[in-house]
Amino acid sequence: MLNDLKQQPADALLALIKLHNSDPRADKIDLGVGVYRTGDGETPVFAAIKAAEKKLAEEQESKAYLGPEGDMGFVEKLMPYVFGKANPTMDGRIEGMQTPGGTGSLRLALAMVKRAGYKRVIVGKPSWPNHNQICADLGLGVLEFNHATPDGTTDMDALRGAIASAEDGDAILLHGCCHNPTGIDYSNGEWDEIASLLASSKILPVLDLAYQGLGHGMEEDAYGLRRVLATVPEALICYSCDKNFGLYRDRVGALYAMVVDPADLARVMSNGHALARANWSQPPDHGAAAVRLVLEDEALTTQWLAELDQMRDRMREVRATLASAGKTGGVDLTPIGIQNGLFSIVPFTAEQVQEMRTKHGIYFAGSGRINVAGLTTGNIQKFIAAVADVTA
Ligand code: PMP
Repeated sequence: MLNDLKQQPADALLALIKLHNSDPRADKIDLGVGVYRTGDGETPVFAAIKAAEKKLAEEQESKAYLGPEGDMGFVEKLMPYVFGKANPTMDGRIEGMQTPGGTGSLRLALAMVKRAGYKRVIVGKPSWPNHNQICADLGLGVLEFNHATPDGTTDMDALRGAIASAEDGDAILLHGCCHNPTGIDYSNGEWDEIASLLASSKILPVLDLAYQGLGHGMEEDAYGLRRVLATVPEALICYSCDKNFGLYRDRVGALYAMVVDPADLARVMSNGHALARANWSQPPDHGAAAVRLVLEDEALTTQWLAELDQMRDRMREVRATLASAGKTGGVDLTPIGIQNGLFSIVPFTAEQVQEMRTKHGIYFAGSGRINVAGLTTGNIQKFIAAVADVTA
């Protein structure tokens, strides 16, 4: 009976939004939900996307079904950015399909992993919680390894150990850049090592690229993904445009598969199409069509990349300001300067997280994950002073 269903925990971040909204203090700060904010605290639609949406409204002549693969023009236009302009299909070995956001892509990728006979996924700890949730929902086992060390760098020994202890039937899920929730990414040298370790293993890489361009740049942020793809025979790539095109609720993503022999691609991808049919049939069109229009138009592409640069520069500035505060109360904010993307973790205790909320009106996840884009020139000193106060 439906009545047998058990109560599920509310999404902690959505509960946090409610808490923040009901706080009457004018100088409260929201560092919870993972969206970019400008120096004025806004999450505007990119101007390049606005222009593309206008064009879409004027020029789109039909909304008839496209098929489970969605807008293939979008999927193909994105490939040079992800896989490099020189050889975006890796000699015909890569093909993709549109998905509802990066989440839809991960859902399909992991369902394909399961269908292909894999039993377990190696996942860093902590990771974006949905990674583990999707694995659990699909009945895939999870082998966790420690992602970061207490000094704010990657725990390469843990990753080496996890790869060495992998068994037949293991896949590995790696964040391409701007790790969520830690902001702690592998260096290029570490990616070189990871690529060669994976090449000499039987592990299937699943690469999650949800923040390309938010770390150090579009090319720079693709380094690890491209290194791994250059050395391994097969991989799945889960891509989200929801952050780097600011399309969050429009749900824009893509799934790509890389195989050994181009002759096998159609058969492999037919599984993605069949799984899409059984999940959402077809992805929503609007956002992906807008991205395609941006990428088909040189001027709009230039505008989009400039807007992305501006976002990244602002986040790097916030990070630099936090890092320059150095040791603040009982915590050291210095490592935040070399971390990437929207998130970093400040090692608060549970009591300190509460005190930041109640005493200072500063809201972020219980894990201590802060969205650095929630900080502005107007509130960053208040944040630093509050950190000093609660951790002293
Ligand atoms: N992967 C990671 C690591 C993420 O943080 C997110 C979103 N927060 C996603 C994938 C999925 O993004 P979306 O479904 O919003 O496109």
